[in-house]
Amino acid sequence: MEITETRISLVERPNSRLRAYASITFDNAFVIRDIRIIEGKRGLFVAMPSKKMQRPCPRCGFKNPITYKFCGSCGVSLNPTNQQRLSPSQQHRDLAHPIKTEFREYIQNKVLEEYEKVKAGKKKNFSQESN
Ligand SMILES: [Zn+2]
Repeated sequence: MEITETRISLVERPNSRLRAYASITFDNAFVIRDIRIIEGKRGLFVAMPSKKMQRPCPRCGFKNPITYKFCGSCGVSLNPTNQQRLSPSQQHRDLAHPIKTEFREYIQNKVLEEYEKVKAGKKKNFSQESN
């Protein structure tokens, strides 16, 4: 599988580590959006689109973030099952992600390469056909 297109939208947000959103196209046939480029302690990295883990309230069915102790809608106590100790990565679930390390690196390199180009102003935020 190859990335045939990469789009970058820069994000200018003070006090945020989010630098840009990216979308990538595989084989001119499949697009993944909402990939985030984040400034980490050890440099930029690419985060795949993810979703906050939720669980429904047993009483009213309201979907609460997994860290809530009480239902945000009706206030009933939610089963305390060590949920509060979950790390941020356990509180989110990737919606799509590469399985192999090499492919993760391939995606990351492609996205960061394009990000640097856009950031440097060498080209506009338009799509790029590779090759
Ligand atoms: Zn409830």
